[in-house]
Amino acid sequence: MTPAIPTPTLAPVAGVTAADERALLASIPTGLFIGGEWRAASDGGTFDVCDPSTGAVLVRVADATPEDGRAALAAASAAQKAWAKTPPRVRAEILRAAFDAVTARADDFALLMTLEMGKPLAEARGEVAYGAEFLRWFSEETARVSGRFAVAPDGRSRLMVTKRPVGPCLFITPWNFPLAMATRKIAPAIAAGCTMVLKPAALTPLSALLFAQVLHECGLPAGVLNVVQTTSAGAVTAPLITDPRLRKLSFTGSTPVGRALLKNAADQVLRVSMELGGNAPFIVFEDADLNAAVDGAMLAKLRNGGEACTAANRILVHESIAGEFTARLVERMRAHTVGRGTEPGTLLGPLVDEATRAKVHELVTDAQAAGAHLALGGRYVDGPGYFYEPTVLTDVPGAARILREEVFGPVAPISTFATEEEAIALANDTEFGLVAYVFTLDLNRALRLSEELDVGMLGVNTGIVSNPAAPFGGVKQSGLGREGGFEGIEEYLETRYVGIADPFASAH
Ligand code: NAP
Repeated sequence: MTPAIPTPTLAPVAGVTAADERALLASIPTGLFIGGEWRAASDGGTFDVCDPSTGAVLVRVADATPEDGRAALAAASAAQKAWAKTPPRVRAEILRAAFDAVTARADDFALLMTLEMGKPLAEARGEVAYGAEFLRWFSEETARVSGRFAVAPDGRSRLMVTKRPVGPCLFITPWNFPLAMATRKIAPAIAAGCTMVLKPAALTPLSALLFAQVLHECGLPAGVLNVVQTTSAGAVTAPLITDPRLRKLSFTGSTPVGRALLKNAADQVLRVSMELGGNAPFIVFEDADLNAAVDGAMLAKLRNGGEACTAANRILVHESIAGEFTARLVERMRAHTVGRGTEPGTLLGPLVDEATRAKVHELVTDAQAAGAHLALGGRYVDGPGYFYEPTVLTDVPGAARILREEVFGPVAPISTFATEEEAIALANDTEFGLVAYVFTLDLNRALRLSEELDVGMLGVNTGIVSNPAAPFGGVKQSGLGREGGFEGIEEYLETRYVGIADPFASAH
């Protein structure tokens, strides 16, 4: 009999009550996690974590100071040597146990994420499944790290190449995928034998705190993972980036912050991975399956409420089908139910905060002023929370800011093109290069685009590309390095070469 593969389901979670929410929140650790212990901040400071669907305070958590940051790095540094010597199989078993534990607690993780970030429960479940898969994938990769041994071409020496953990890492993660952006870094680092300091986004630290607790319960030794949530991101992380004990910085977030961190990291030539912003083109050719293209656009645009680096930001449609495509997309987006993520039937939650909502509205208003036509939405939803209507803009002119800047909201800007060459030129006309989506039934055209588009990832007839077994990452100003896949663990490994004298040289 084939054994069941444990995977969280995407079925809606029915019947979450206010009492369920309170009970879960009361069980979440709220301290800093340093050296295997939960601590208060060194100055006793705390900050509020709020529900973006109501603005209400969910819980208060410790607010790390620069001193706490240094204590976290000291703990990671102290644990590094022993952790690097831990047998790979032991590290693999911890990751596998963590996969099982996160999967078993999928409902708790999903509810917590919905409460702190706003996404609908079914989507939060999807993120738990995705985030957990990095634990399973890298548990399987742990024992596969290897090197090589060769006779030098001149026969006079031997070449031994080995892989070693990079050493203590600093991880800075964003609010939009509070669990998966952490597991995508933590799992390969554990697999490679690195210790870590994680600084999650201040808006959404709770998923990371629960995950740290789960890893601890699964046997991760003290000091291997340390978590310092803070309202002073720059002040806490800058001294760590210039501290010689730190050997690697992995950042997921916006391109402007990534650029600034790269400059700081240059001082000690730190190894870096940068998963930065995107501005994804979504190209629909005249020969596309229109139903599949509209399904794909819904996914690429509205997954995570549009608050995703992979979100379709520039929908480019062949002029011959633009009218039909737009009519169908408007119909689907109009029917997208907006509400609190815990309510059954909700398909679109709130934006994460007022600043994000204001920026979305600013870009919509700017596009209209530049000549775009508002086909749907374009307004705040009345009531508490940071809700914004699903919005479609058509005839968006090239000068509109929305085609240059990440919109990070449920707004679909549609433009048209006449030829394949024009579509490629429009798609590549951006400083970003994370992902693109192409809808066509012509295989040769899809292959041509896979070579012509300046992106790290391409979706062909699909609106989603993220997969723990595939290398995620961008080119141009979308970043450096890859997460997931066989490539993901390489970000946490150094190559060491040992030259060995010819063993026959002294033989008689
Ligand atoms: P962000 O403002 O750049 O923040 C990301 C992280 O950096 C947060 O933890 C933030 O902390 C921290 N941070 C901010 N300023 C800092 C500084 N001066 N020094 C050190 N850390 C600092 O981005 P966001 O708004 O949270 O996330 C959205 C962005 O992330 C978008 O651009 C999106 O495209 C990108 N993203 C990229 C990927 C990818 O894989 N390529 C995936 C997801 C998201 P606080 O929030 O606590 O201030």
